[in-house]
Amino acid sequence: MNNKGDNTAVNLTFYFIFWSPQVTGYLNLLANGIDNFTHGLAVAGSFLVSTRVGLLTTAAILLHEIPHEVADFAILLRAGIHIFCCYFMSFYCGMTNKTAALYF
Ligand SMILES: [Zn+2]
Repeated sequence: MNNKGDNTAVNLTFYFIFWSPQVTGYLNLLANGIDNFTHGLAVAGSFLVSTRVGLLTTAAILLHEIPHEVADFAILLRAGIHIFCCYFMSFYCGMTNKTAALYF
């Protein structure tokens, strides 16, 4: 029997590990933390250029964050995380941008 190219078991393993709602929620938290960290870098860097550029960058990021955080919240709820934990997790992920801004 030729098993070459038959990777059904591997595909199923990846499916159950990476497509389970819980893992999706935690991956989303990780990605959200990195995203917020880069926002902090962008805001801090743009304020170093000028106040006007900094305010514009901040406004753009705030507008971008509204649908972004709503979607992240929905993903966390779908992952089975309690609604209060979703609030706290979103809050702590949001703190990563302050960390980046303070680093500069
Ligand atoms: Zn973002």
